[in-house]
Amino acid sequence: MGRAAIRVLGGGLEVGRAAVLVSSGNRAVLMDYGVNFSESDTPQLPEHVRPSEVDAVLITHAHLDHVGAVPYLYTSSPHPLLVMNRLTKAVAEVLIKDFVKISGYYLPFDESDWFRSVESVRYLEVGEEAEFGDLRVRSAHSGHIPGSQAYVVDLGSARVAYTGDVNTVETRLVRGYDTTATISADVLVVEGTYADVDHPDRREVEKEFVEAVEEVVGRGGNVLVPCFSLGRSQEILSLLYERFSGGDVYYDGMIRTLNSVLVSYPEYINRFELLLRAVREFREVRSADQRRRIVRGEGNVVVASAGMLKGGPAVYYLKKMYDDPGNAVYLVSYQAPSTPGRRILEEGSLEELGPVRARVEWFDFSSHAGFSELLKVVKSFRDLKAVVVVHTGEQAYRLSEELRERYEVYVPRTGDSIEVEF
Ligand SMILES: [Zn+2]
Ligand SMILES: [Zn+2]
Repeated sequence: MGRAAIRVLGGGLEVGRAAVLVSSGNRAVLMDYGVNFSESDTPQLPEHVRPSEVDAVLITHAHLDHVGAVPYLYTSSPHPLLVMNRLTKAVAEVLIKDFVKISGYYLPFDESDWFRSVESVRYLEVGEEAEFGDLRVRSAHSGHIPGSQAYVVDLGSARVAYTGDVNTVETRLVRGYDTTATISADVLVVEGTYADVDHPDRREVEKEFVEAVEEVVGRGGNVLVPCFSLGRSQEILSLLYERFSGGDVYYDGMIRTLNSVLVSYPEYINRFELLLRAVREFREVRSADQRRRIVRGEGNVVVASAGMLKGGPAVYYLKKMYDDPGNAVYLVSYQAPSTPGRRILEEGSLEELGPVRARVEWFDFSSHAGFSELLKVVKSFRDLKAVVVVHTGEQAYRLSEELRERYEVYVPRTGDSIEVEF
């Protein structure tokens, strides 16, 4: 008989601070250790775990809600092993340094703790398999952003799979998660960010977005596309490079640094040549003077961080562009409640600016699987007995109800422990 214990340290009925501790026999593996920003401006860490209790930490991808709290595990020693791939490490380093610079005051760790973490890194590339002591770890492409990988771990008497953030749709940036690869596992920990909805057809969304950009630029207006710096912005730049002509395209903010990291790792990018050309031929914004010229000009498209308009140069462009109905602000990322992005969508105004007269629209470029796709992901596993849905909210219940006929299903809160026997 097999058994596994699962402790949800973060990401239980919340989207953010992913952290799941899985143990079986006398082995324990921590899957992700991220932070959450959505409740307030103060980052929230996952629940504490003693590093000495953990044999290995497996990181699925470089978004801060999956890797941002990792240095907290290494404040006193370079233990335990830290498993990720080369791109995830390179990008996480950029994002964590920036995070510590901005939020350092609130954090119980600093940049030096990240460098101590790095001493423990063992690389595992997408699709590879390795043994670390008596742990056997396999990785599979998870289709979310470049370098994102799901894991299957053999520990004690259990085989446990963890998707991290997962998407089945192929994009210019990444191939989708392969639901035809039948992987065997006893327990699956799956994300459920969009567990109750199906996304519209990706090609339709792309077409509508490009047409909407062309319409504004054709009349001499400017378009601001606020973007998450990792993943979405490179996807939007690649799309515009392939489909859009008729205006100048610029990129600004943290996107610049991440573009230069990503173009050094061709093997992780689905259509690398396209991204490379977009990064080289579109214009990188390098000065305040250039920013002024963009907003005073006509027919310019600027892709700028941050994606929810909470900071970064996107805020500068918004302030200069919001008052002209000839301009547009096209949101292409998830907009958390009470962020400026969500407020201009729902209320059409911001306290500090007043009514936004520019055209505002949201386009569903999700990098997370919707309801039907998540069902396919779960059903692609063989021998599965139990499913745990994390990185989700109330939306998990549509999926969990559907799965209950075939599996034991859990939708735990952060802090909960689950014992599974099979
Ligand atoms: Zn992510
Ligand atoms: Zn996430």
